[in-house]
Amino acid sequence: DFDNDGILHSIILIFLTTEPARVRVSVRVRPRNDEDLADADSYDCIELQPEVKRLKLRKNNWSSESYQFDEVFTESASQKRVYEVVAKPVVESVLNGFNGTVMAYGQTGTGKTHTVGRLGKEDPSECGIMVRAMKDILATSGSFNVEISYLQLYLESVQDLLLPEKNNIHIAEDSKTGEVSLPGAAVIKVRDLDHFLQLLQIGEANRHAANTKLNTESSRSHAILMVYLQKTYQGKAENEKSSLTKHNKNDVPARNGAPMLIKSKLLIVDLAGSERIDKSGSEGHMLEEAKFINLSLTSLGKCINALAENSPHIPTRDSKLTRLLRDSFGGSARTSLIITIGPSARNRAETASTIMFGQRAMKIVNMVKLKEEYDYESLCRKLENQVDHLTAELER
Ligand code: ADP
Ligand code: MG
Repeated sequence: DFDNDGILHSIILIFLTTEPARVRVSVRVRPRNDEDLADADSYDCIELQPEVKRLKLRKNNWSSESYQFDEVFTESASQKRVYEVVAKPVVESVLNGFNGTVMAYGQTGTGKTHTVGRLGKEDPSECGIMVRAMKDILATSGSFNVEISYLQLYLESVQDLLLPEKNNIHIAEDSKTGEVSLPGAAVIKVRDLDHFLQLLQIGEANRHAANTKLNTESSRSHAILMVYLQKTYQGKAENEKSSLTKHNKNDVPARNGAPMLIKSKLLIVDLAGSERIDKSGSEGHMLEEAKFINLSLTSLGKCINALAENSPHIPTRDSKLTRLLRDSFGGSARTSLIITIGPSARNRAETASTIMFGQRAMKIVNMVKLKEEYDYESLCRKLENQVDHLTAELER
């Protein structure tokens, strides 16, 4: 009788690839809406130069400032194109074993939910990033196990949108790896795309019900979809090709026939409106509550600033949102941010602040890591079988 645990635990996690990957930032402008059109004094304060990925913000009639982004989407950009540029590279990376984040940031009414969360029930060509990402994940050949959690973060409290009875979910952190998990949240195995659409719809209904009860709007809360991917495969002997989906530099080398496990996580985040609460006149909220609503977004802004300035201290522990996004900014995930803005000068102050948030995020470089583990359970099973086999041999 010998103790496997000690030996195996010490070798269970291997980081195979570590490489720098800058946070990608795209900007999307929504079409002029009725309010923009009805406002006689309003004019467009932004000018897009999509071919050079630049955006000009008119400060007044005489001066404007120009900003560089990774991509600039005009009001006529299709949902499909936005997905392909913003999210698809992250999804592919997650399928290859890296963690990934896609997040939308912007003022209420500028198209975050349209971009990220739209189901496209009436018109499937209009569905957003969550649905398209899941479609690609489920269509990938190979034995992936796909599970999701769907959460809302409001007033520093995490609510489960799939299991609404659970409304104060604890955020746990692994003391060694720093990995964040939500042990109390429902984790549901996704069977197919229809099943996923049902789950999203349930989530939306629960979000609506919870917000009615709390007397708030969904623009005040963050919606967070977590997708957990897991793939087991047999490590090949040296010199043999790996069994992963793609043969590129992210590919996993041979592991001498050991059963291996690749785990990765995709976070898709539809943030609360970035506008300052006191300006938008939220009725029925006390000042203290308004401060609390702002806390997570304010903390996120502080972390982005600190990271952009290479500050030695990043205040990730200040809010639930920044704890949840620890891996996404300054961590090991591949991250793509889409900022959404309105075209009209009416919103100039919020538009300028959203642009600055995006500009700072572009300076952040994450160190993406491919995580591979020995499949501990099947390795133990294999060892036990070997021991049984040897014992039988000896007794013969
Ligand atoms: P947010 O989630 O940022 O508050 P929404 O996604 O709810 O904003 O968008 C507000 C409204 O504008 C919705 O009716 C949405 O359909 C519309 N809209 C936003 N972006 C676009 C776009 N790019 N094309 C067409 N309609 C859009
Ligand atoms: Mg929204």
